[in-house]
Order: sequence, then structure tokens, then C-alpha cells
Amino acid sequence: MTFEQLGLEANLLQAITDMGFTKPSEVQEKAIPVLLQEDTDLVALAQTGTGKTAAFGFPMLQKINVDSRTTQGLILSPTRELCLQITNEMKNYGKHLKGLNVTAIYGGASITDQARQVKKGAQVIVATPGRMKDMIKRRLVDISKIEYCVLDEADEMLNMGFFEDITDILSHTPEDKSTWLFSATMPKEVSTIAKKFMYDPQEITVGKKNESTSTVSHEYYLVNARDRYQALKRLADANPDIFSVIFCRTKRDTQKVAENLIEDGYSAGALHGDLSQNQRDLVMKSFRNKQIQMLVATDVAARGIDVDDITHVINYQLPDEIETYTHRSGRTGRAGKEGISMVIVSKSETRKIKSIERIINKKFEKKDIPSGMAICEVQLMSLANKIHNTEINHEIDGYLESINNLFEDTSKDELIKKFFSVEFTRFYNYYQKSKDLNVEAQNSSSRDSDRRGSNPDAIRFFINVGKKDGYNWQSLKDFLKETLSLGPDDLFKVDVMDSFSFFNTDKAHLAKVAEVFTDFKVDGRFVNVEVSEDKGRGGRDRGRGRRRDGGGRRRSGGGERRSSRRSDRQRSESKTGGNRSQKRSENKTGSNNNSGSGRPRRSRRR
Ligand code: AMP
Repeated sequence: MTFEQLGLEANLLQAITDMGFTKPSEVQEKAIPVLLQEDTDLVALAQTGTGKTAAFGFPMLQKINVDSRTTQGLILSPTRELCLQITNEMKNYGKHLKGLNVTAIYGGASITDQARQVKKGAQVIVATPGRMKDMIKRRLVDISKIEYCVLDEADEMLNMGFFEDITDILSHTPEDKSTWLFSATMPKEVSTIAKKFMYDPQEITVGKKNESTSTVSHEYYLVNARDRYQALKRLADANPDIFSVIFCRTKRDTQKVAENLIEDGYSAGALHGDLSQNQRDLVMKSFRNKQIQMLVATDVAARGIDVDDITHVINYQLPDEIETYTHRSGRTGRAGKEGISMVIVSKSETRKIKSIERIINKKFEKKDIPSGMAICEVQLMSLANKIHNTEINHEIDGYLESINNLFEDTSKDELIKKFFSVEFTRFYNYYQKSKDLNVEAQNSSSRDSDRRGSNPDAIRFFINVGKKDGYNWQSLKDFLKETLSLGPDDLFKVDVMDSFSFFNTDKAHLAKVAEVFTDFKVDGRFVNVEVSEDKGRGGRDRGRGRRRDGGGRRRSGGGERRSSRRSDRQRSESKTGGNRSQKRSENKTGSNNNSGSGRPRRSRRR
């Protein structure tokens, strides 16, 4: 089949040749003739990358009247990246259509400029739902005469909580328009939209129906409600490269958690409805630029966060409406990447986990909040890996002689120890007396987890491969099972970090592990396995005393820590635009409301 045979006009065919497309893709072959020949509604199940933009773009461009200045086509897309991408594609497809005006409407950019563009006579508007609704309310757009409406990546839009916005937008469009819905999956909410807003739609499927694009794993952590904040910090510390959205239930909690994190030296920011649009834009900009690693947000404010590489979503509190959980967890695992959705729960909320499992049709894994010493190890190994991978800056060469003189009598071993102690001691001092935050659930799964987690006969190993080498806990477990010829129950607590991982086996397997992994290479690269100092306790530091995190330890070495916290905070504040409440928190007269909960901060991203 050729593009000519699909029934496209010469000027569009010219653009196709210009772009170098030689053959229609499957979705184009199926959709274009139907959309050209009939005024029909359409539901197309197709993933990104299948050529779906052209599948709706070409027919729309062929059918609209470019001599008119009336808006005739509306394309709704979940994110601003996609919105801009579609706009760009549409402009390319229509570059030989004289007088064509395709306008992008999305949040975070000047609404006045966008309104001006529309006013010039945009025949096609490509929009994200939030901004579109805003512009309708302000009467800056008129979509009362549109003939074609595309809902692109409908599942994503609903995932992001845009159902009401879409409903609202569609209520301003004429009944007799054609609606073309494109979605990678067909969850219940998408069928609801199709039923509600479409009339006898034709259906097209490319690839498998209901194929899930989601790669999110779900974990929960059981703690006492009063330890929620400490648990959050441990989760962050155990994941040094975290880039996350943390969801709270109320604006007040959102602000408080963000303030506390900033005060404790994390690069955090708050996003909620009490901030001005300008403040929200600034926070989002810092988050997108990765100057903020932890964005604390309410559900409403987080709608439409269109950042692709969020590694973790942390449910600091579960939402009131458990359906909202899907919108939250959908912020991670995007664009084919893996993501983790973590839930911090207290005992009284555990039944909610079961209800969520039914809704998402996936099981949660119950995990333990890592012990202080496990975190120290993760931080140490993360630093070691970073140093190992650092490119040498030869500007240092000129100073080498003086440095060498200083360390003349220091052995390599001693030097390494001193070097790492600079960072490690801060974490160690903070965490050495930390308590176990985990609460035992009275059910078999938690007993099982406990059996595995605190088994005195277990031994914990460090291995120098991680996510960067393409592993997740499942594939690493499979690799270890095969390499060590062990059964599935012989390996447990497999925790995969960015460039290294940990796993437990029974002590009986120590000799075997040591033997197999001596001079062991994969693809020409040495894979090292070493016994980890965490002794296989898997996050438990029983018998280390019952003091709270860092309790009573702030004074020792506190001078350094305090000053480092303050400068971090100031830096974070300038990044977040220094909102009012954060300023207030800075004025607290030394009485930290998480007394003793400040955190030693490693050298930070710049
Ligand atoms: P989409 O699924 O619309 O995001 O398209 C994915 C990419 O494929 C875009 O960069 C398009 O420009 C490109 N593309 C779309 N249709 C074709 C085609 N028939 N032949 C080659 N590339 C295409």
C-alpha cells in the first residue's frame, strides 16, 4: 500500500516525500482511508511510535478549510512535550498548505501569546487539557464550531486526572463533530469516555489489545503513623539518585513535608494550590531541570505533571479516594522506563492496600524500611561508584605535588579510608543509633518477609551491577539463580540500585558465591560480589537501642552539619523561588520541629 492509495492529496503527498516516509505504517493504513471517506467517530488502540500522529493528522489537514480562520480541529494531548511534538508534526505535514495555522496551547508558557496566535485564525489547536480549560473559561478560544476532535493518548490523559477537564472541554464543542480517540490501552475509564462522547465509533487495533505500557512496581512500607516522616527520609536516603513526586493529602501537609525536607538538607519543593501560578511555574521549572529531587505535591496540583523520568512516586499518605492512586503511580514508569510507586502506611490503612490491588490489578510487595546501616552502605557504595566513574579533571595536575607531599606517609588503603570517611562519617553519625521503623503486620506475608529479612542465618552480598546494566530485582534474581545454581527460595531481598545491588542468601551458600564470583566476567567486564556489612539483617538493626533517628546526636559534629543544612536550604529556597512559607520556616528560632531529624547531606548536585 502507498500513501497515494490511501487517498491523500498532492500537497500532503509532497510533505510525505519531503519527510522521507516511503510507506504508510499499519495504523495509518487502517485509519487514513476511513477518516478520509467517512465522517465517523473512531477508537484506535495504538502505542506511541506507531505513526498515529500522521494517522489522524493527515485526514484532519485534508478535511479542514485553510481559507477559513475558524478553529475546525482540536487535538487534546496529556503533556506539553507531546503537545509540542504533535504541533511540530502537524506543521510539517501541512507545510504546503498555504494559510495553515496550527497553534499549541499548554501550561507554563504565556497565555497571552497563545491567545494572540489563536486569534490570528488557528484552524487547528493542539492543547493540554488544563490550559485549554483555562482559555475557554477566559473566552480566549472558540471551539464551538470544531468538526474534528482528537483525544490523543487518552489513557495517559485519564491517568493524569484529566477526566473532568476533558468532559468540561467537550461540553463546549458541537454534538455533530467527529471524535477520534487514540489510546495505547483500553482501561475502563477510556471505554467510559468512548461511550459517553462518541457515537458508534469504528475500531482499529494495532498490536495487542490492552497491552500495558506500564512498568511500575508497587511497594508498601508499614510504619507507625508518627514515624512517617522518618520513613520518608530513609526511603530517600536509600535511593541516592531518587527523582520523585511525594504525594500528601492536604495542602498543609504538602507544605510542611516540603519545608521539613528542605530544612533537613534535601533538594525538595512544594506544589499546591495555595502557591501563585508564578511560584508553581518556578517549582516545576526547577523540578524539570532536576534541581529539585523531591517534589511534594497535592493530587490537584500534580495533575498534568509531564516529566518523563520520575524514578519514584511516594505516597506519603494514601489518597482519600483510592482511585486517585492510579493517577499518582502513573507519574512514574513513563516513556518505557521503569518506575516504583511506594506507599507509606500505618497499620490502620493496610486494608486500603488490598482495595488498591483490586483496582490496579497488580500485587504490592511489602518491603522493610531500610536500616540506618543499610543506608550508610548504599550511600558509601554510591559514592564509590560515582568516584570510579568520574572523569579526571587535569586542572588538578598543577596541585598534585603539594597534595602528594601532604600524603607522603599515607598508604593507599589509609587514603581511601580517609577520603570516604569525609562523607561516610556524616551518615554514620546520623544513623548509627537509628531505630527500626518497621511495624510487624499480623499476617503471614509480613511474617514471611520478617523471616527472610531478619534471618540470622542469612548473609547479605553486594554486587557491582544494577539498573544501569539493565537489571531489575527480578532479572538479577534470575541471573543469580542461574549463575549460582540456586533455587528461587535461596535468594531473597534482592535490592537493585542504579549501578550496584544487594542480595541475601543463606550463610551456607557463602563459599559457593565466593567461588563462582572469583574472576567472574560478563561481556568482558568483571562482576564483583562481596559480603555486605549489613550482615543479611535486611534492614533491621535490632538491639541497637530504641532512640529515634539521630536523637540526641545533633550536637556532636552538629556545627558542620548545621551549616551544611543551612546553605543547602538557602540554595533550595532560591531554586524554589523562596515561597512565603519556606521563608517562615527559615525564621524558626533554631527549634527544628523534627528535633534531631536533620540529615547529613552529601555533596549535592549542582
Ligand atoms: P508517532 O507514533 O506519531 O509518535 O510517530 C513516531 C515517529 O514516526 C514520528 O517521528 C513520525 O515522524 C514517524 N513516522 C510516522 N509515520 C511514518 C511513516 N509512515 N514512515 C516513517 N516514519 C513515520
